[in-house]
Amino acid sequence: MNQTEDRKQNLQDLFDSKNALELTRRAAISTQNRREVWRRAGARCEQRLTSGERCSRTHLLQVDHRIPVAWGGGNELSNLQLLCSTHNRVKSDRLPGEY
Ligand SMILES: [Zn+2]
Repeated sequence: MNQTEDRKQNLQDLFDSKNALELTRRAAISTQNRREVWRRAGARCEQRLTSGERCSRTHLLQVDHRIPVAWGGGNELSNLQLLCSTHNRVKSDRLPGEY
C-alpha cells in the first residue's frame, strides 16, 4: 500500500469508528430501561414546577434524555426521565443549562 492509499484507509477507519460510535449513541432506548423509567417515575411527569411541586400529568408521557443525544447524552437510566408532552416540548425549545 502506498502512502496515499494508507492515508485514505486511515481516514476510512476513522470515519467507520465515528459512525459506529454515533450509531451506538443513537441506539433506541431498551424496553427494559423504558419500563424502569416509567416505574421509577410512578407513571407521572417528573418535571419540577417553579413552585417546587412535581407536575401531576399522567397522560401523553414520553421518555426523555436529560442531556440530549445531540449533546452527547446516552440511554443510561441516569440520563432518562419521564416528561409529559408539554414539558418535553418546553425543554426542547431551550438549550441545556437553561432549565
Ligand atoms: Zn409535565
